[in-house]
Amino acid sequence: MAAKSVAAAQAATLRVGGLTSLTSIDFPGRLAAVVYAQGCPWRCGYCHNPGLLDATTPAALDWSQVLAFLDKRRGLLDGVVFSGGEPTLQTALPAAVREVRAMGFQTALHTGGMYPERLSALLPLLDWVGLDIKGPLQRYDAITGAPGSGDKAWASLRRLLASGVAYECRTTWHAGLFSAVELLALADALAALGVAHWALQECRAPGAAAWELSAAQVLALEQRFAVFTLRRG
Ligand code: SF4
Repeated sequence: MAAKSVAAAQAATLRVGGLTSLTSIDFPGRLAAVVYAQGCPWRCGYCHNPGLLDATTPAALDWSQVLAFLDKRRGLLDGVVFSGGEPTLQTALPAAVREVRAMGFQTALHTGGMYPERLSALLPLLDWVGLDIKGPLQRYDAITGAPGSGDKAWASLRRLLASGVAYECRTTWHAGLFSAVELLALADALAALGVAHWALQECRAPGAAAWELSAAQVLALEQRFAVFTLRRG
């Protein structure tokens, strides 16, 4: 089989759990479609896409259907976002990203960073990455339900920063996950590592604690970053 056919065959195995045909908020500055990859190895209590977590759930649509959709959107969309679930769970992802780029689209990835080496291999194929940093290292396992998850996510963050690829580092927070004091320490740790773009997202999942940050605390967080985004509600 020719190399192109092998890559296409790999991409065709991507299990797609859903597709958003148009978004202006998931890939900064671009009009994009979002491809939701099925499956995630973590189990965050506040996950907003629980239907995408089970990797054995049959695909909602074939990769060929995604390609057919994108073919009709050439010239209308700037890019394609691979989200999830956790896209890097699937070894078909690099071939799928390459295929999308070959169609002329820019590419973005939303990831929890649980596979640092896979992320490193993908970075040359990406125009933008949204990386979740779920909390301080010592809080990770409780948040994700996955032992050792924090080391992986923070390793991914270091690789992303070293790559020079445009990014947003984001943290979903409520005071029941970890304290405001720890949140400020987290911001310090991120800034010390070289994070310049950080988004703090209020967790509104059922059972989430009430928002407890004062305006002064938010300002203190903001001052640590060149670009700071606060997403409430
Ligand atoms: S890493 Fe993301 S997709 Fe996976 S369980 Fe956590 S919030 Fe959900």
